Amino acid sequence: MKICQSCGMPMNSEEMFGKNTDGTQNEDFCTYCYPEGRFNNPNETFEEMVESCVPFMMKEGYTEKEARDYLNNNLKGLKRWQ
Ligand SMILES: [Zn+2]
Repeated sequence: MKICQSCGMPMNSEEMFGKNTDGTQNEDFCTYCYPEGRFNNPNETFEEMVESCVPFMMKEGYTEKEARDYLNNNLKGLKRWQ
């Protein structure tokens, strides 16, 4: 399964993928991070990405600390943050 190389979200259907400037599907990033050939928030830092994902994970039942630890470990390896 592919995951977004920016936010780590699983991309399991066509409409989850981002778009290139020519309208083709971007294989690396999701539609939220990369909607129209560019990052939605190009200046976002790694720390900001972690913070913006924490509330979503807490909704899934993780504690704030678990969410932050998980994201710090798992988003770090993604292409955008190299
Ligand atoms: Zn994403």
